[in-house]
Amino acid sequence: MLKDFSQILKEIDDDIHTLSQVELKQKYLSKSGVISKMFKELKEVPDKEKSEYGLKINQIKTLIEDNIKNRVEEKLEDKPLFKIDPTAPFDINSKKDKKPHILDLRGSSHPLMQELEKILDIFQRMGFNILESRQLDDDFHMFESLNFPKGHPARDMYDTFWTDDNFVLPAHTSTMQNRALRKFGPPPIRVVLPGRCFRNEATDASHEHTFYQIEGIYVDKDISFANMLATIKSYLEEYLEKELEIRVQPAYFPFTEPDAEFVISCPFCNKSGCSTCHYSGWIELMGCGMIHPNVLNSGGIDSQIYSGFAWGVGLDRLTAIKRGITDIRKLRDGDINFLRQF
Ligand SMILES: [Zn+2]
Repeated sequence: MLKDFSQILKEIDDDIHTLSQVELKQKYLSKSGVISKMFKELKEVPDKEKSEYGLKINQIKTLIEDNIKNRVEEKLEDKPLFKIDPTAPFDINSKKDKKPHILDLRGSSHPLMQELEKILDIFQRMGFNILESRQLDDDFHMFESLNFPKGHPARDMYDTFWTDDNFVLPAHTSTMQNRALRKFGPPPIRVVLPGRCFRNEATDASHEHTFYQIEGIYVDKDISFANMLATIKSYLEEYLEKELEIRVQPAYFPFTEPDAEFVISCPFCNKSGCSTCHYSGWIELMGCGMIHPNVLNSGGIDSQIYSGFAWGVGLDRLTAIKRGITDIRKLRDGDINFLRQF
């Protein structure tokens, strides 16, 4: 015998416990490996010992091959067959030794919808009804019922999308004012009108072509501008969980008169200046105003008897302010890593 097989078996036993699958293959099964060398040495073995010697080499070869095969099967039992999911975000594919936690795979409510629910809850407690807007509307509800007669220059303020058959994608939730006045009249009328809006505009960190607005109207006898300020202030203080100072700036909308931009003291820095308020201490939050008599009359409400106010605020804007989101486009680009934070 040229080789002491018991010595080789002991070495193999050590190697099986210390070497990786690739190293084991290289050392024993490659062309220059141990087994190959042993077969070469077979030529020098005396004839009467050849068959026994050859048998032992084959037994060693099988031992190594079985060990390598079993290691692969062990791995397949532990891991999913498809290690890379091309539809999953980067961090799931890169967790090589860890399956994604089941919680990562569950659906959840979008941050915009979470905020919308909170806002609608506040208004319901304040006695408001809810009526959702449409995603396709007509010229009458988008413009004419809101005191934009045909050819009115203010129509140009709204760069809208039109369909070939003259329907419009609403550029604001005010499209619902006429319907709300008719549905909930005669006054008192208190309605919030949440809905999706569309504008043909270039996008940046604070502008999107698609966004949510929440419109509100309140119509009754003797409703004043002061009632409007108090209502909006109460709602915002409840929503932002902070006492606020408010001020109004002049604005222009054809469907309200007088009109205003509603401005609040920055709830994050108490007017000392921060990135949210662009270091001004104040945040211009929404348009509002007393509903124009033409709009009331068009909705079947006698403007000689009743008055009311309306406002429209961007849900995306409110969500960004409340959640500290610096780029509102993030709310719609479907990035799971972003959404999973909420
Ligand atoms: Zn601030």
